[in-house]
Amino acid sequence: MDVNGKYEVVIGLEVHAQLQTQSKLFSGDSASFGAEPNTHISPITLGHPGTLPKTNKKAVEYAIMMGLVCHCEIERFNYFARKNYFYPDLPKGYQVSQHTTPICKGGWVFIKTKDAEKKVQLNRIHLEEDAGKSIHDADEDYTCIDLNRAGVPLIEIVTEPDMHSAEEAFQYVTEIRKLVRWIGVCDGNMEEGSLRCDANVSIRLKGETALGTKVEVKNLNSIRNVKKAIEYEIERMIAMVEKGETIIQQTRSFNADNDTTFAIRDKEEANDYRYFPEPDLTPFRLSEEFITGIQAKLPALPNELFEKYKLLGLNEYDAQQMCDEKATAAYFEQAISYSKNYKAIVNWMTGPLRQILNERGISFNELSITPKTLAGLVAIIEEGKVNFSVASLKILPVLLQSPAKEPLQVANELNLLQVSESADIENWVNEVLAKMPEKVVEYKKGKKGLIGLFVGEIKKVSKGKADPKAATQLLEEKLK
Ligand code: ADP
Ligand code: MG
Repeated sequence: MDVNGKYEVVIGLEVHAQLQTQSKLFSGDSASFGAEPNTHISPITLGHPGTLPKTNKKAVEYAIMMGLVCHCEIERFNYFARKNYFYPDLPKGYQVSQHTTPICKGGWVFIKTKDAEKKVQLNRIHLEEDAGKSIHDADEDYTCIDLNRAGVPLIEIVTEPDMHSAEEAFQYVTEIRKLVRWIGVCDGNMEEGSLRCDANVSIRLKGETALGTKVEVKNLNSIRNVKKAIEYEIERMIAMVEKGETIIQQTRSFNADNDTTFAIRDKEEANDYRYFPEPDLTPFRLSEEFITGIQAKLPALPNELFEKYKLLGLNEYDAQQMCDEKATAAYFEQAISYSKNYKAIVNWMTGPLRQILNERGISFNELSITPKTLAGLVAIIEEGKVNFSVASLKILPVLLQSPAKEPLQVANELNLLQVSESADIENWVNEVLAKMPEKVVEYKKGKKGLIGLFVGEIKKVSKGKADPKAATQLLEEKLK
């Protein structure tokens, strides 16, 4: 039975992204990751009596940036609320959040899957503070608490129940990670927890309009796990319904050891958070100037660049490669301001330069060779002064060591310049023809394809210095 054709899968994702601000959302404590436990804390983070929080303007700005790139409506009047619950890693006994009054409403994120593209509709993006961290594996008998993360600013990006396959969810989180990195609001590092995803999944019969009962798989810490958890849930739910069982609303967790999920609580046990407006923080109104100022500072987005690069004549694959990462796009943008040979620039960037980056584990912004130098390399090949293999095998390594040098200068110093002076070429041509008398006879009998062999041999004896065009011309004359 084709059960998969019988049901429709419905998925909504909640992504938490830690904002890359210097300080926390409501205090001056450092928001950076990886410090000694409990060193980035103060009475404010700990919620001691008599302390007053103050909203971090940068965090508000970052939330708006994300809202603008996701085409959201920006709420002008904002306030925070307390979400009350008890947990050891929540020192204040409540989390300050914007759960019901988000700073960004609606909007969409454009995604491409293997065979389609679509706009995933967003419900909202809101600001909130992170909780601390419970560490269960540091001590045998105790759970340890690290409050460095408590109060670090987060945005929560919530979609509508608008995705219908694990593949769409995978592409959506990939796109979100790319966007937050692109605009610099979050490092997107899922292993360190700066980006975390909860997946809400339900199924219903095809054609049904009402939503089915959902389960929420919490805290997925890699994009692959988002996909695997959803795939597992789909199978599990379909099997249940096929057996006549009822799906109950649950919160579940993913077990990465065997790619399954397990229940952590049922809906009936859900908390009552007793939300109320945070009395210690004044509501704030956003001015039009503040928002338009943020809009003006936003960089060109990957999708815009993709379209631009296709207009430049790049194929889809190359265009995609050039806007996969911000650093790559920035490098390409600069390089093409010096060279109109776009395809050659792409070939260098995806070929020899990419290889260097991979070997060193760095990105284009850390490469010693500047875009201008790359354009210079492309130019001397175009002008017939050196060929590609000489440029990539001999000149590139020198430029890597001495990035201040000009490609032409290096070619000169290493005596690599191709020679098109007729005297030199003629010597090489004569030498080669003398070496291969039988081939000359065959050529003259009509085996014109042998010209390639002669040119190849000339390249060899000239150590790559003979300009192949000039050599071919002279050969043709001599063999007439
Ligand atoms: P909750 O209050 O349980 O967090 P919300 O209504 O806030 O639920 O939705 C949380 C997320 O779950 C959103 O991304 C939403 O799109 C998604 N969602 C809600 N209902 C369903 C459903 N029946 N199936 C799949 N996803 C759903
Ligand atoms: Mg939820």
